[in-house]
Amino acid sequence: MRPKLYLETFGCQMNQLDSELVLGQLHAHGYQSVEDRDQADVILYNTCSVREHAEQKVFSRLGELRQRKAADPGLVIGVIGCLAEQQGKSLFRKYPHVDILCGPGELDQLVTLVHNAAVTAAGSRPPRQLALMGAAARRSATLAAAEDRLELLDLSRSISPADEVSQAYVRITRGCNKFCTYCVVPYTRGPEVHRPPQNIIDEVKKLVDGGAREVTLLGQTINHYAYRHGDGRVTTFAQLLYQVHEAAPDLSRLRFVTSFPRDFSDEALAAMRDCRRICRYLHVPAQHGSDRILKLMNRGYAAEQYRQFLSRARAYMPDLCVASDFIVGFPTETDADFADTLQLVQDCRFKNCFIFKYSPRPGTIAVKRLADDVPNHVKRWRNTQLLAAQQEISTYANRLMIGHTVEVLVEGQSKLVSKRTMPGTVELGWEKRRLDPSAPSTPTTQMVGRTRGDQIVVFDAPSSLKGRIVEVQIIDAKNLTLFGDLPQTSLIGDGGPLPTRVAS
Ligand code: SF4
Repeated sequence: MRPKLYLETFGCQMNQLDSELVLGQLHAHGYQSVEDRDQADVILYNTCSVREHAEQKVFSRLGELRQRKAADPGLVIGVIGCLAEQQGKSLFRKYPHVDILCGPGELDQLVTLVHNAAVTAAGSRPPRQLALMGAAARRSATLAAAEDRLELLDLSRSISPADEVSQAYVRITRGCNKFCTYCVVPYTRGPEVHRPPQNIIDEVKKLVDGGAREVTLLGQTINHYAYRHGDGRVTTFAQLLYQVHEAAPDLSRLRFVTSFPRDFSDEALAAMRDCRRICRYLHVPAQHGSDRILKLMNRGYAAEQYRQFLSRARAYMPDLCVASDFIVGFPTETDADFADTLQLVQDCRFKNCFIFKYSPRPGTIAVKRLADDVPNHVKRWRNTQLLAAQQEISTYANRLMIGHTVEVLVEGQSKLVSKRTMPGTVELGWEKRRLDPSAPSTPTTQMVGRTRGDQIVVFDAPSSLKGRIVEVQIIDAKNLTLFGDLPQTSLIGDGGPLPTRVAS
């Protein structure tokens, strides 16, 4: 019988991709995924240590498994990803029922680790399995060795049209060299490694052949990509964008995240402008509006430079949508520093912002040098203020979309449950609105998708449209969501030609 496997993923898109890759390998070796953790013979958590909250969730999951492990010693429990790398063997001491620890740089070894643990005789405790890079080895490892490991994992993936995968991630860099003082990523994911462009192109083409309509290129500081070939030539990020765009003409949408403000060349912005299937969306974390705090964070730019970058980007693409990240309550942050952040958000008119309260991360420079001295209630208040300012900006921008028609890639069923209450009326979560009474009565579900600018659109449609590209007319808007209607003739992408009109 095939061993049953349960994998839960926490954190960023990089972790989601890692999970997809390791699942592919484990499935190829006979493991079968199950939705119900209680049915599993092997339980894995792919973890994140960027924020305390994500760590606490994993600790709580591990706590829940204590009793089951006591009753069933043969159950295999593994912690993989950043938390495993960051906490190391101390996790074994804290959670003695954990059998496997595997860092994000060692995931190509996971099948062996799981197999070694899972072959234990019934009723016996599996031998502990450990694959961590460790801080010293991680920083001293040669780039060539790191590249090889990276490629082993990424090149292993396969998808087919039967998988019905319309969106996919492709990693182009791993790790980070920036060492922002609050961040664990350079310690958990190691030095920045860039993949060979041909391997990236081959992977994108494979995904498109397998049915992907949208590919998102991934990297911690993706626009810092520069691959040095054996003969000394360098492929820049801008060149890579042009090459991927040209090599995959059947790909409807190409995106990339996450960008670092200081690293954006004019050539990369020109590539976005010139290649019509590259989505005009950037996620460029600013993190703060005060130059003093940006310096303490080691971000390497001043707030004015961020503003200048944004003006430059919008000069290339006036319809560009930009999202950003901010941290409130960084050590020593004063009211005046926070006011600078508020001003930056007001000035930049982001599509949306991800706002986080500072949480000290063990092992980072900020923890070693700076006391976490902003009281929690002040962090909370600043978080609320910043969120309110951004919500007002997002609502205003979204309401301008009402009456426009946008191109949407349908991602699936919306979490807002749509319930028809009477003919011609639909209830969308908290609101009711009229529908065209002459509309045909095709069974519909509330579906959700995204525009090219990454705006979320909710609309009623047959669930069979999942993975397709449609045109949706916007009829209402909230700060995070556009609500739309699907005209009868709106299907514009069935793997066929691209829409000629870019709607967002
Ligand atoms: S750029 Fe800074 S915040 Fe982003 S991953 Fe690198 S160290 Fe962390």
